[in-house]
Amino acid sequence: MKRSIGLYVHIPFCQHKCSYCDFYSVVSLEAMERFTETIVKEIRLWAQQEQLDATVETIFWGGGTPSLLECTQAEQIASALRSVFSLAPSYEWTIEANPGTVTLEKLRYYRELGINRISFGVQSFDHRELEFLERIHSAQQAEEAVELARRAGFNNVNLDVIYALPGQDLETYQRTLERVCALAPEHISAYSLVYEHGTPLYRQLQRGAIIPLDEDQEAAFYSKTVEFLAQRGYRQYEVSNFARPGRQCRHNLLYWRRGQYVGFGPSAHSHVDNIRWSNVRSLRRYFDAIERGSLPIVAREHLTIEQQRAESIFLGLRADGIELDAFARAYGVWLDRGMLGDMITEWQQKGWACLDGRRLHLTSRGYALCDALTLQLLDALERAQSASGSFVDCNV
Ligand code: SF4
Repeated sequence: MKRSIGLYVHIPFCQHKCSYCDFYSVVSLEAMERFTETIVKEIRLWAQQEQLDATVETIFWGGGTPSLLECTQAEQIASALRSVFSLAPSYEWTIEANPGTVTLEKLRYYRELGINRISFGVQSFDHRELEFLERIHSAQQAEEAVELARRAGFNNVNLDVIYALPGQDLETYQRTLERVCALAPEHISAYSLVYEHGTPLYRQLQRGAIIPLDEDQEAAFYSKTVEFLAQRGYRQYEVSNFARPGRQCRHNLLYWRRGQYVGFGPSAHSHVDNIRWSNVRSLRRYFDAIERGSLPIVAREHLTIEQQRAESIFLGLRADGIELDAFARAYGVWLDRGMLGDMITEWQQKGWACLDGRRLHLTSRGYALCDALTLQLLDALERAQSASGSFVDCNV
């Protein structure tokens, strides 16, 4: 039977490196033409070696800044994908775009290629915050970019925002949310600022040059996000993701539901048949491998049943929940029975989780505690397993 998969394409170029970002990208654009030729080879090489009988439900071009691709480069990559994969009739195909890099001509071309969803990294509508984050665009350019995308025919638009910046107050943040909602995107991703190791922002933090918000302040920003967006019709379906009804990002849902996907480009990750692998995180080594006729894979891991079970929990809790019956069939554990069941009942009583039919999912209050609740459940599972002495049937 044909399987359903998603495709991820990593475009590793940025005009400037934002202070907080740890995604793999280079700021020199000289190699973009060589990269385009190489990723086309990688797609064809992978298809020759793997011969996966699959229908592609979702494609996601991320980065880096995919919107830096010239039209002809985007066309070459799109053609390579179409030549080796068959697309489902109702596919979702997202491109990430930096508002400082788009033109109407480019956006129209993306639509002609079949790209039907666009995700803009807007981040803030406050010019000091944009400077702090070292974004290359202004607030006005972000608004213009969304307007251009609508004119080009995109009717599925995501806007990314970042909150809990040092010194940010709730009023400034609310103004950003108001301007985001005024653009009527179908989807909003709102992330709390993370000080990723190795970034310029992390080094500023280490030097004491910036003071991060404390936990309570950050929680206030999270609550503001959830309440504000709920009032405007955006339903939270993951810790940081909100959508109009029916407009959840299908590609991200595929990740969170442990679906199967294949990634191309440096640093891209893949997951097929419980095997995970990743591509090398270096453009030079990526070129070397493919030009030698090898796939640029550096890590391949066959997930044990314990790893699969842990993934099902932490991905399920952060997103749209865990189907209890499917979980029991896969792992021999009923999360709603015995001491695990007592824990889940307590979560429900505290307003952190609810049962929607047979699907356990966190509430907005629960999402705020997602990491702690995940650890709690994983610990409890381990204890139940030790007590029963068996991985399966540990509480049935
Ligand atoms: S444009 Fe995006 S990928 Fe590039 S450095 Fe900024 S946040 Fe990272």
